[in-house]
Order: sequence, then structure tokens, then C-alpha cells
Amino acid sequence: MERDIYDEDHEAFRDVVKEFVKRYVTNEAREKWDADGEVDRATMLAAGESGIIGLSVPEEFGGAGMLQDYRFRAIVNEEVIRAGAGSLAGAFGIQDDLAIPYIVHMGTQAQKEKWLPRMATGEVLGALAMTEPGAGSDLRGIKTTAKKVDGGYIVNGAKTFISSGKTADIVVTFVKTGEGNRPDAFSILIVENGMEGFDHGKKLHKMGFQGHDTAELSFTDVFVPEENLISGEEGRGFIQLMMNLPLERMSIGVAAAAASQAALEWTVAYTKDREAFGERIIDFQNTRFQLASIAADVEALWAYTDRALLAYKDKKLSAEDAAMYKFWATEREWEILDIGVQLHGGYGYITEYPIARAFLDARVHRIYGGTNEIMRDIVSRQIAGKR
Ligand SMILES: Cc1cc2nc3c(=O)[nH]c(=O)nc-3n(C[C@H](O)[C@H](O)[C@H](O)COP(=O)(O)OP(=O)(O)OC[C@H]3O[C@@H](n4cnc5c(N)ncnc54)[C@H](O)[C@@H]3O)c2cc1C
Repeated sequence: MERDIYDEDHEAFRDVVKEFVKRYVTNEAREKWDADGEVDRATMLAAGESGIIGLSVPEEFGGAGMLQDYRFRAIVNEEVIRAGAGSLAGAFGIQDDLAIPYIVHMGTQAQKEKWLPRMATGEVLGALAMTEPGAGSDLRGIKTTAKKVDGGYIVNGAKTFISSGKTADIVVTFVKTGEGNRPDAFSILIVENGMEGFDHGKKLHKMGFQGHDTAELSFTDVFVPEENLISGEEGRGFIQLMMNLPLERMSIGVAAAAASQAALEWTVAYTKDREAFGERIIDFQNTRFQLASIAADVEALWAYTDRALLAYKDKKLSAEDAAMYKFWATEREWEILDIGVQLHGGYGYITEYPIARAFLDARVHRIYGGTNEIMRDIVSRQIAGKR
């Protein structure tokens, strides 16, 4: 069915994204990102120049001002993932869905002026560091401390699994500023590259998203000035995380829908082309039935996705809504991509083929942004009336 959530502005924007993809998302570029384990800065700057990152940055700071309209971001995901470049979509996502929103929604005026214009152009790349070696799902168990000193904080600790952790210039970092694990014991600081004692550590080797860096970070007596405290208020970090997590979770669901659509298209094309026993693979009834099944799943995914996008636009996407959408969308994606791989036969396992890369990328969708078990926990608590 035709989707009806995009208007002329969105479709005009899609043309811009397609143009960008044609020019910059070549096989050579993608292979280089995969070999280097990161997206090169020139591509991020080109994305800034084309106006396809920094979408939520207000116009007064040089962005597109699409604060609540995630449909533009959805289009970026659709086109970049369709081109087989999940890693690039991931790098864009960290900048636009994880780093920038903290400054747009919760930054002080000075923080907005300092960072947003250069984040919109790609000159400054951000990352979000919550997870630690000993605490992921249970974020209140973090151990990275920020001790108040004259004019700022001294940060000590370590983070792990940080997307864009190697390439980022600034890291929005979740720290403990108080005792115990009450919500008001946490704050968020912007840690900058080059601050003494801040080390980007080791790049981690992953099964998917080969072209997007994921790193460990360490902090040894790092002095962070108080003007880098998000919102300028200590003790608000946990609430600030909770405010942004629905967007992060919705963004993962949207990427899952885009990958599922792409997988369907790649698989239809492949099975029309490939032959066995004198017939095209698509001429076997099993293939057509499997394609019919995943086509229905993709339809349902878009229906749910579009509903989530509109709810977010109207500020009606609750934490529970986002959690439910995230686990459902990423689980459908996993099943769809698995069928896509199967119908590609051996080539489905070879990472030269986009279906294989997308399959490997998809696995983490059920883990990061909060695992799907945690998503079910959030939803089930609401159902049970337990908060
Ligand atoms: C490629 C990649 C990129 C990432 N990017 C970032 C990033 O940019 N920034 C960032 O901060 N983090 C990032 N993460 C971290 C990610 O969000 C965490 O890995 C995730 O939240 C799970 O935390 P954990 O790894 O500590 O698992 P754990 O919390 O140790 O969980 C282990 C298992 O126990 C289950 N479990 C835990 N608690 C419960 C419970 N209450 N009920 C039922 N089951 C439970 C989990 O669901 C999981 O199956 C990234 C991770 C990966 C792999």
C-alpha cells in the first residue's frame, strides 16, 4: 500500500538524499568505511553540506529546524540503507538521534551556540556514552564519577560500546555526581576531545556495522568545566536520559523498517535473476510464498512505523509506546532478513551482498538502545500497572 505520511517537502528532501547517495555512497566508499572501521570525515562534512545531518538543529543555529518531524530522518534511513550502507546510516543516527538532541532539547544557550552550528555541518561529531563495562541495562549501576571542584568536575571511569566513540569530537557522557543510585545522583557532561586524561581507547571489532566505529572510552582525572554540564543543572542526568530514550528507540525501529524494505527489494531482484533447475528462483512456489509473507510483514512494519512517526511529531509517543515499537520492529526485521538471506542461498552469507551485511547489522538492533528484554519489561510494567 502506498504510504501517505510524506508531503511534497519530504519528497523533495528525498531527492536531495538520493543525489547524495548517488554521489557519495559508492561501493568503493563503502568498502573503505568497512576496511577502516569508520566513516571518513569528508563524507560527514558532505552530508552536512547537503543538509542531511543536523536535521533537528534549529534554523538559527544552521540546521533544518525539524525538531519533532522525524519523517526527514526516516527518509535518510530509507535511502542510505537501501544503498547497502547501514554503517553510514548508523553514523548519521548517532549524530542526529543521540548526540544533537541532548544539546537541542536540554543544552544551555551557550552550549547551543558553541556546538550546534558545527554539529549541523559535520565539523563537530558527537557520541553518547552511557554504557560501562559493568553496567548497560542497569544504567543506575554506572561507576563513572564526576566530582565537583572549583569551576567544574573531575571525571574518572570508563565507558564501552560507544558508537562513533573513536571519531567523535565531543561525547555526551552520563556520570554520577551524587551518592547511591537515586535518579538525582546522575548528571550529563559534554567531554571534549583533547581534554587531558580523556582517552578514546580501543576500537571494538563487531559482527556488523563494520564501517561504523564503536569504542571504549576512559577518563582519568579529566577536568570538565561546569559550562559543559548539560542544561547547567546537576542531578538531572537520569531524567534527561529518560527524555531522549523514546527518540533513540523509535530511531532503531525506523532503521529496522528501512532495512526490511531494502531486504525485500534485494531479495525480489536476486530471485528474479538467479536460476536453478532451469527456472528462476522466484518461480518456485516456496520462494513466492516466502516473499508474500515478508511483503506482508514489511507492510505491517510501515503501518506501525508511520504511526510512531506521527505520534512522535505530535509529542504523543510515550516511553512505553517507543519500547513496544522498538522490540516489535526489530524482531520483524530479524525474521525478514533471515528469509532474505535464505533465498539468496550461499551468496546471502557473503558480505559483498547487502543482504548479508544488513543481516549482521540487524542483530544489534535487538540489543542496543535498551535490549528487547528491557523493552518488554517497560511495556509489561505498564500493562501490569507497575511503574
Ligand atoms: C554495536 C553496539 C553499539 C552500542 N552503542 C552504544 C552507544 O553509542 N552508547 C551507549 O551508551 N551504549 C551503546 N551500546 C550499549 C548497549 O546499549 C548495551 O549493550 C545494552 O543496553 C545492553 O547492556 P549490556 O551489554 O550491559 O547487557 P546486560 O545489561 O549485561 O544484559 C545481558 C542480558 O541480560 C538481560 N537482562 C538485563 N537486565 C534484565 C532484566 N531486568 N530483565 C530481563 N533480562 C535482563 C539483557 O536483556 C541481556 O539479554 C552499544 C552496544 C553495541 C553492541
